[in-house]
Amino acid sequence: MEIKGKIILKRGKEQSIQRRHPWLFSGAIHEMDGGVVDGDWVTVNDAGGKVLDHGHYQRGSITVRLLSFEKVQPGPDFYTEKISKAAQQRANINIQSTVTNAYRLIHGEGDGLPGLIVDMYNGVAVVQAHSYGMHHDRNLIAESIKKVFGENLTAVYYKNQTSSNARGEYLLGMSVIPHTILEHNHKFFVDWEEGQKTGFFLDQRENRMLLASYAMNRTVLNTFCYTGGFSVYAAQAGAALVHSVDASERAMDMTRKNLQLNGFDPSQHECFTDDTFDFLKGKENQYDLIILDPPAFAKHKDSKHQAMKGYQRLNLEAIQKVRPGGIIFTFSCSQVVDRQLFYDTVVSSAIQSGREIKVLEHLGQPADHPVSIYHREGEYLKGLVLYVA
Ligand code: SAH
Repeated sequence: MEIKGKIILKRGKEQSIQRRHPWLFSGAIHEMDGGVVDGDWVTVNDAGGKVLDHGHYQRGSITVRLLSFEKVQPGPDFYTEKISKAAQQRANINIQSTVTNAYRLIHGEGDGLPGLIVDMYNGVAVVQAHSYGMHHDRNLIAESIKKVFGENLTAVYYKNQTSSNARGEYLLGMSVIPHTILEHNHKFFVDWEEGQKTGFFLDQRENRMLLASYAMNRTVLNTFCYTGGFSVYAAQAGAALVHSVDASERAMDMTRKNLQLNGFDPSQHECFTDDTFDFLKGKENQYDLIILDPPAFAKHKDSKHQAMKGYQRLNLEAIQKVRPGGIIFTFSCSQVVDRQLFYDTVVSSAIQSGREIKVLEHLGQPADHPVSIYHREGEYLKGLVLYVA
């Protein structure tokens, strides 16, 4: 890697690096080279000039995303080594199998690569860069994925997330859209070109599996369904009926297609393009399993309070509507809302409803979305399974 500059820390500010926290905040910096621009590789040095680490520089509160935790300069095989390690880690825990061929290969800080997401969809890698450094290094990353997967890789598609109007492109190969993946033997179409995020929410895989164990003979409402992940599992598990709701017409279209792909008739398992709050109006006692998987209501700390109100209202609506003896799967994927705060918010909805409610399960993100133990911020998905008497 070509190192473009040098950052010197204030005295005593090397502790967080020594504790392997991957973010260097601007307040810790004493001095830096003038010529460094966003996305450059830099060395981070203690006040005495000793090299502590290397990383990607970017103006802002997180000034350096640390990448190696090594004093020696990362070599040309840096990405290949990291990607190979991540692939090995997934292989060791059997993420991929004869029934699942889609999984997250690189989960940012959890895989030692802050700013980078790579999802694998049945031989196609979809890469997202959330930092300028990863954006600059995208071709190197694509080549490294190819080196690790060889013939098993058909294409690498790049979704630039560093600006809102950035366009996607193939860095290697090509693939027909939509592409079909298998998740616990359920089939799904994935469209990374037009879809949200990398095209599919892989982080709900194990929670969908758990939902299947609750779905038999129940009337199921899947709100914020996106491309119908939970809907397909519920139908397959023998739900009496599945209703799917999302505000996006494109998402609903894909949900219909995904139901059909698995052999279900969308006229029996209806799809509604609607706002969840509007849809729930007047729906008392119609459903005995409701899934609430909204988008991140809070993207920043400033919007946390507003987000809590959103979660409170949404959970209250569902608790009031679900049939006696019903189940609610409720989630939050806002990173700034931690597990305790989410739990407390659901408690507040429960109190307001006055119904008798039990917590049956605590849910999170799956093993292919690992969290570095030194970086708790990597934990973002949390959920509860509630029993409403
Ligand atoms: N449960 C999904 C992922 C949900 S992502 C899965 O397993 O794949 C969040 C979804 O909420 C997006 O598809 C978005 O279009 C939808 N959405 C956002 N605001 C909404 C609203 N007010 N009402 C209904 N859907 C909404």
